[in-house]
Amino acid sequence: MWRETTKRERNMSIFREEFAGWLPKRILDFHVHVFNPATLPQGATYNCAGHALRRYGFAELRRDLAELYPGRRTAAVCFGLPDRIYNRAANDRYVAAGCDNRRFFAFRLLDPSEDPAVVRRDLASGPYLGVKPYLNYVRKPVDDVEIDDMLPAPLMKVINELGLIVMLHIPRKGRLADPVNQEQLVALCRRWPNAKIVLAHVGRAYFLKNVVGHIDRLRKLPNLWYDLAMVGNPEVLEHVFATVPADRVLYATDQPIAVAPGKSLEINNQYSYITPAPWKLAIHDTSGRVVYTCFAYEELRGIGKAVARLGLGRRFLNGLFHDNGMRLLQAAMRSKER
Ligand SMILES: [Zn+2]
Repeated sequence: MWRETTKRERNMSIFREEFAGWLPKRILDFHVHVFNPATLPQGATYNCAGHALRRYGFAELRRDLAELYPGRRTAAVCFGLPDRIYNRAANDRYVAAGCDNRRFFAFRLLDPSEDPAVVRRDLASGPYLGVKPYLNYVRKPVDDVEIDDMLPAPLMKVINELGLIVMLHIPRKGRLADPVNQEQLVALCRRWPNAKIVLAHVGRAYFLKNVVGHIDRLRKLPNLWYDLAMVGNPEVLEHVFATVPADRVLYATDQPIAVAPGKSLEINNQYSYITPAPWKLAIHDTSGRVVYTCFAYEELRGIGKAVARLGLGRRFLNGLFHDNGMRLLQAAMRSKER
């Protein structure tokens, strides 16, 4: 069994000793990938931090939410696997069918080459409250992809008119610190004020140098939110909590990866994951030098440390883990009904 949850006694001890005292009663995970076998090419598997999956469906998500956050009422924002190698339509249908927009909230995958009329019809008639673009959908060398390529104006016009959410994983090697990203992010938020932009993984700023000085221009944008998926670095989290408005931070994990064993570590103004299983994004520890818990618990530890250092209280935690995200989803629902 590859998943690190409270089904293992050592994780239950971590939960009891380190999280139970402060973790709010209601938890909304704003960044979860779900897919069924029809999403994947025939016979293929999805590499989840070194573990091969044929599916990560709503049943698996329900099980993991219960096992990771015992005694908590849980909910999640769900979307498919954003890559051209997967069956986008099948994955979107699976997400739409499994989401009730009460506990599980649906976002639709978005390929920038799609016909805006089709996207409009789908978004307006389906349960979707947001979209999930991705750099791999853009027909360009991956290092050259820009935010504007992922979100062309005719599609943004549709999203803006419907008032929906964009779950944006920014491109480019410089991540949050990249000047092209900075320009285009500011311009995107200003040009489409009714669209709600979520900066996934805090702009992929997993190490301190990438975030310090690079959210100052962004923090005043009224339609920009920050999701913490896979950000476990306490210094990064402390900087984000101290800098952006408290109602814009969203707890998020990037399940199913976050239930796998491993940790993100800052090394010399860079970062790497360290995992017990071989994975292309990680340095791997095949000798079993240390015992791991899941990425999600390392993230909770980071959040706990940052919150304690800043002296943030119950109100902040309730907002971060539930209320901020729920308000954002409700705003998208209201815009869509108009
Ligand atoms: Zn993700």
